[in-house]
Amino acid sequence: MQHKVTFIPGDGIGPEVAGATQRVLEATGVQFQWDDVVIGSQAQDMFGTALPQTALESIRKNRVALKGPVSTPIGSGFRSVNVALRQKLDLYACLRPYKIYPGTATIYKDVDIVVVRENTEDLYAGIEFAKDGLRTKELLDFVFDATGERVKEDSAVDLRLISQAASKRIVKFAFDYARQNSRRKVTTYHKANILKFSDGLFLDIAREVAKEYPDIEFTDVLLDAACMQLVRRPEQFDVIVLPNFYGDFISDLCAGLIGGLGLAPGANMGDDMAVFEAAHGSVPKYAGQNKANPMAMMLSGVMMLQYLGERNSAERLGKAIAEVIAEGKNVTYDLNPDNPVGTSQVADAVVESLKQGGK
Ligand code: NAD
Repeated sequence: MQHKVTFIPGDGIGPEVAGATQRVLEATGVQFQWDDVVIGSQAQDMFGTALPQTALESIRKNRVALKGPVSTPIGSGFRSVNVALRQKLDLYACLRPYKIYPGTATIYKDVDIVVVRENTEDLYAGIEFAKDGLRTKELLDFVFDATGERVKEDSAVDLRLISQAASKRIVKFAFDYARQNSRRKVTTYHKANILKFSDGLFLDIAREVAKEYPDIEFTDVLLDAACMQLVRRPEQFDVIVLPNFYGDFISDLCAGLIGGLGLAPGANMGDDMAVFEAAHGSVPKYAGQNKANPMAMMLSGVMMLQYLGERNSAERLGKAIAEVIAEGKNVTYDLNPDNPVGTSQVADAVVESLKQGGK
């Protein structure tokens, strides 16, 4: 069976790591028909919009996309198309597995954590009020009327949105994932002691949903304490479910535990479609240098094969990547700083390893 998949190369290191991933996916023998689309600054230049309708329509039609990282201008310029894509397609769950592969130089041994991050709201909902903006003054006046609190006039404001419905579906997603994947525990991190309404709501809902899953343990930890515990004893955590903003930081922290972002895959999932992309960004400083590690993207490809029902190929590709990491000869600078190879040589090695494993 041939799978139609939207392909977004991205920018920076995107085209290299996404291209390498296409190569190894095709080497599994699974048939793909790629529908290439561009988003981000390239699309802005070509079509006058960073997120063209054609890209969204392609994903809606194919229901599956493989996406390289896309840069977001800092401070000014267009808003993150990565965030916009997740919101527009209602890809509400960001699923990121972090595990240590034998051969990786890391001080930890037993990390096997899955972060489930809410993808559509929180501080990333994009409702912002600029300093000195016309509407900002109205908002600050409203806050004064409603609360009696006088916010400094020269303030900028971002709204933090945590809804009951979005919290419920992400926590349910985490518990369902745990059950389907024989995981024993779901944990949430929060600051419900300080953010009594937003994090308080998320925590109340998590406790409520947990009652529907008596076979899975549920724990909650204050976010600051959790950061310390995660670094000291990461093996105590299993599935971690988080609101969007905390999920961003905890994801990168977990990547640090397993040897870096070059090994951190991910998927953005909705009820009936999914976009597979690495947890890392576009690393502009290494763009076009055949230097970046394509394995996070390749492992996202493994997740995509699983999603497409190609379980045997997913297993073989996962094994081939693990073998290349374990051997340690054909890996990039982040895994072997003394004697690294380039992005495309990693792809060669994974294709070779796949051949050795037999089709
Ligand atoms: P980044 O993930 O691009 O890079 C951080 C550092 O991690 C790099 O300097 C590099 O040392 C290391 N790294 C990351 N991926 C690597 C890889 N595959 N191989 C080897 N080393 C790797 O984060 P950043 O510098 O904060 O962001 C750069 C750009 O990427 C920004 O424009 C940001 O908005 C964008 N971004 C996009 C996405 C996405 O497309 N989903 C996600 C995060 C950041």
